[in-house]
Amino acid sequence: MKILVINCGSSSLKFQLIDSESEEVLAKGLCERIGIDGALTYTPAGGEKEQYEKAMPTHSEAITYVIEALTNEKTGVIKSLDEIQAIGHRVVHGGERFTSSVVITDEVKAEIEACNDLAPLHNPANLIGINACEKLIPSAKAVAVFDTAFHQTMPPKAYLYGLPYEYYEKYRIRKYGFHGTSHSYVSKRCAELLNVPYDSVKTIVCHLGNGASISAVDRGKCVDTTMGLTPLEGLIMGTRCGDIDPSVIEFICNKEGISPSEAMTVLNKKSGVLGLSKGLSSDFRDLQGAADSGNEFAAGAIESFCYSVAKHVGSFAAAMNGVDNIVFTAGIGENNCIVREKVLEYLTFLGITIDKEANAVRGEEITISTPDSLVRVMVIPTNEELAIARETAALV
Ligand code: AMP
Repeated sequence: MKILVINCGSSSLKFQLIDSESEEVLAKGLCERIGIDGALTYTPAGGEKEQYEKAMPTHSEAITYVIEALTNEKTGVIKSLDEIQAIGHRVVHGGERFTSSVVITDEVKAEIEACNDLAPLHNPANLIGINACEKLIPSAKAVAVFDTAFHQTMPPKAYLYGLPYEYYEKYRIRKYGFHGTSHSYVSKRCAELLNVPYDSVKTIVCHLGNGASISAVDRGKCVDTTMGLTPLEGLIMGTRCGDIDPSVIEFICNKEGISPSEAMTVLNKKSGVLGLSKGLSSDFRDLQGAADSGNEFAAGAIESFCYSVAKHVGSFAAAMNGVDNIVFTAGIGENNCIVREKVLEYLTFLGITIDKEANAVRGEEITISTPDSLVRVMVIPTNEELAIARETAALV
């Protein structure tokens, strides 16, 4: 079955066409600057990357160009739209209603819309993508795969904040967690690679990208995660501050003469390693380069990030009363051996010893701890699109 995986942002749309039997990516691409001017990149399997500038006032035009690219005579990979049997949509927030992926119906769309206030930037964009695909590819069944669903197994002691309980009852204010598709894929893949039952191991997944989160997966169930009501909680990230004392917000507002919503923009977009490096960069490649040339703020930002990761891994080892596997994934987790080494140095108390040669290998599923390490440490590249395609195939 050919499955189109769609990941809609407010001004972007990433797509992959995946053959669910062979799990081969037939084509992939990205529409950017939707609503501004519009650009499409498209790469068919085994072919060259193509780039076009196209007017994309809305996501509908973007999807029209995606269809055009997939079906064009020269570099298209399908003859007609009928070949796309299903569409898997990444949806950011499923609230408490969605504990797994679902086939999209009008009722499901209404419930996704009801979660809009929990993810005001993302869920409306996801719905626009769902509606545009429904209009332009009506023959394909559509499935919603939620970023939050995997974390719905957390117990109340993990997801409740220490706030008046009525806020949970009235507004469902609680920890939800994000990157669930990645945490689920990577923790399952870890058990598969080790040839052990998923429900027999305790695994901590460190999804370290520009957005970063950690989850504790205790014998097949997520029991805690670092992101919260929104993706702002937890680790220090590329531009997000992660955990801070909430009093900081009122303090900044008073000192800088800004509104709470302006302060939230600072916490989401100007903080994290970008803020700590005095605005140098949110990208770890830039930070590493600057640190190597003696920039103490860049070096300090990397150190704070690694400390933040190690501290949360330690707390999740306590939450599960032990840990068998720690897995690194996403942009930084997969590619930055210096960050991995620094994080693991903090964790030698867990009996971890690192295999430095293996840690230097890139782009592979690999164990980077030594055979006598008490906890196995692995790098497993994440594949959220494949995970979405698998969920979609299973449901249709
Ligand atoms: P993500 O959000 O998962 O795309 O991750 C973005 C982060 O991963 C950035 O801070 C990059 O510095 C880092 N990253 C991504 N790809 C590479 C790479 N090939 N080599 C080193 N760092 C990378």
